[in-house]
Amino acid sequence: MNAIVDLPKNQLSSVGKNIPIYKERGQREVFCGLTGIIWLHRKIQDAFFLVVGSRTCAHLVQSAAGVMIFAEPRFATAIIDDRDLAGIADAHDELDRVVKSLLTRRPDIKMLFLVGSCPSEVIKLDLSRAAQRLNKEFLNQCRILSYSGSGIETTFTQGEDACLASLVNEIPKQVQAEEKNLLIVGCLPDVVEDQFQRLFNELGISQVSFFPPKNSQQKIEIHSNTQYLLAQPFLAETARLIEERGAKRISAPFPFGIEGTSAWLKAAANQWKINTQKFDEVTQPKIERAQKALARYIPMLESKRISFFPDSQLEIPLARFLSQECGMKVLEIGTPYLHKQHLEAELELLPEHSRIVEGQDVEKQLDRCRADKPDIVVCGLGLANPLEAEGITTKWSIELVFSPVHGYEQAADLAELFARPLNRSMRLAA
Ligand code: SF4
Repeated sequence: MNAIVDLPKNQLSSVGKNIPIYKERGQREVFCGLTGIIWLHRKIQDAFFLVVGSRTCAHLVQSAAGVMIFAEPRFATAIIDDRDLAGIADAHDELDRVVKSLLTRRPDIKMLFLVGSCPSEVIKLDLSRAAQRLNKEFLNQCRILSYSGSGIETTFTQGEDACLASLVNEIPKQVQAEEKNLLIVGCLPDVVEDQFQRLFNELGISQVSFFPPKNSQQKIEIHSNTQYLLAQPFLAETARLIEERGAKRISAPFPFGIEGTSAWLKAAANQWKINTQKFDEVTQPKIERAQKALARYIPMLESKRISFFPDSQLEIPLARFLSQECGMKVLEIGTPYLHKQHLEAELELLPEHSRIVEGQDVEKQLDRCRADKPDIVVCGLGLANPLEAEGITTKWSIELVFSPVHGYEQAADLAELFARPLNRSMRLAA
């Protein structure tokens, strides 16, 4: 396998088990952070996302997120037009006008995110200043925050990181540490959040909250007695800000698959000194049920060869799940960024012969992919169609972010997301 690897040895670092990590820089094929609005607007139910961008941004958000025609949407785009670009109109005045009209018409909006884009960054529209100004005006009615979803040098899951980081900055600083609490950080579908809440309750960990909250009015506590568990591997900035408040991260693999979920829960249980017997009593029935459901997909996945193009930053935990629990052979794990501390527990569990590449040079990666001939490739939408046309089966990485895939109950669903396209290709070939 290494014979076809054209990766510079001087850009090499390694992690536990001395697995090398290659670094690549070049043309990238990724979505921008606006994409995060798809799942964020469903999660924080009284929030609204106002993208300040171009018609392209509006099309992206509208077609990616969709909305039922009779529903009140919770996202929109304030279009920066030629007059703004030419400096004929004051973009700040225009934005104030749009926000006022929106909040007057929609008093149900309790939190408004002004979301920056490539065009707003290019014309240097300062949305944090706009948010401060508008906050004064709408005090007691709506909190106004800002973050960037621009595609300049970022990937699509960083939109969630930037959004959550802006939310952390909003939480009042607590000087006095309160009772020990557990904070689960990262957007989870409600059904998954409820399952985890029940599991923590059964384990006897009562002070648990989820971030972001379902409702913007919900109080979130972060202080020096807070321990937090990341539910997503792409929240570097959010985690940094949480730690600035004195909270401590519990190191764990991510809760994908049965073993990932057990290790994640166990890491929290250890901090709360829950004994092994209690832990097993709570988790064992769920593990057995999940194993039964997962077993159906193992024959479809076992020994199949998979490669990941860098996109969602979920690549490393997913590769661990597919190799460890489904018997897949992982050829290449491309990831846009690799946060060694957050992923340390995952990296230990990866198969030794997988090629880990941080960053992207898409042409080189396509060459390696063609040479490897994997049975399935996980990639962004932009690469999926060309690869399918070359006869390579693909899985869209974005689907893995907005489908419920965390936890015991979803382990089989996660495996099915890979088994389905493989099964379809096999039938087409037959
Ligand atoms: Fe395109 Fe940038 Fe708008 Fe994203 S933010 S849709 S990359 S212009």
